[in-house]
Amino acid sequence: MKHVTVIGHPLVQHNLTRLRDARTQPQEFRQLLNEIAALMTYEATRSFVLKKISVRTPLEKTVGAQLRNEIVLVPVLRAGLGMLAGILELIPHARVGFLGLKRDETTLAAHFYQKSLPKKLGNTEIILIDPMLATGGSAVAALDYLREQGAKNLRLVSLVAAPEGIARVRKSYPKLPIFTAAIDRQLNNVGYILPGLGDAGDRLFGT
Ligand code: URA
Repeated sequence: MKHVTVIGHPLVQHNLTRLRDARTQPQEFRQLLNEIAALMTYEATRSFVLKKISVRTPLEKTVGAQLRNEIVLVPVLRAGLGMLAGILELIPHARVGFLGLKRDETTLAAHFYQKSLPKKLGNTEIILIDPMLATGGSAVAALDYLREQGAKNLRLVSLVAAPEGIARVRKSYPKLPIFTAAIDRQLNNVGYILPGLGDAGDRLFGT
């Protein structure tokens, strides 16, 4: 699938299986999700652009590299919070925004209850963190809002993606890079991913 990277790294796949396991309790689930988020970040940031800078070592001057753009992480609440700390471990200098989206359980449409973003998004690299790409409604609503706020360089990190969610995102954002640990089979009739891992927010927070 074009512009979709399924991260097959053994540590990612090992952790994903433990996250899927219904016996995994919230404490372990939180730890695994942060670990997998850090591993996925390594792949999701591979194409970030560098600029050359000069650096003076204790011995002499040389040429080094620095990220060209600032990085902004935007977790979609609640479940996105479960990946934030892991990603921040790798990118501690990133700025962070939050988008709260709740889906109407009948219509499955996404509604915002929180919008809080850093200013001046235009020249930043934005990583939208939406762990479960199910119908794609929340991801598209978040991407639309980020674009409205001036975001240009966007990528999506989703732990598990449904084919329906990818198709929905693709319809609005044909070239958006998507990074996931798995493309699962399908959605069930209430919008959960199969086989999936259940409600990621509930499993994270024990609700
Ligand atoms: N959100 C979840 O947490 N899990 C799903 O399977 C779908 C949406």
